[in-house]
Amino acid sequence: MALIKCSECGKEISDTVESCVHCGCPLGKVIFNTGNSWIGVFGKYIITDESGNVLAKLKENQQFEMNIVEDTTFYVQCNTSIRRNKVKVCVPAGEINKFLVKLGFLGIVTVVSKID
Ligand SMILES: [Zn+2]
Repeated sequence: MALIKCSECGKEISDTVESCVHCGCPLGKVIFNTGNSWIGVFGKYIITDESGNVLAKLKENQQFEMNIVEDTTFYVQCNTSIRRNKVKVCVPAGEINKFLVKLGFLGIVTVVSKID
């Protein structure tokens, strides 16, 4: 747990809450789910932030979730895909955003799709 600043009122709040306890502003959340996507023994989906910091390394059927206070950009890449494309995911604050991460056709590319 960490303390973050609410983007609306500027007061400090816990990053584990879903909305600001002072003003009620929804923080927003991002959830990356790797589901049942077979990526092999050495495969990992790597989620990084805009500065290239690694936030999570996920095998299949794993989940990474993070609260966000402002619109945030993430990058998702599979370390075993043939074309190691980085998928850029722009996540708006103020809502819950769920994404399914998997390998595309023949394991060639990483695919990230939004789910409701
Ligand atoms: Zn607030």
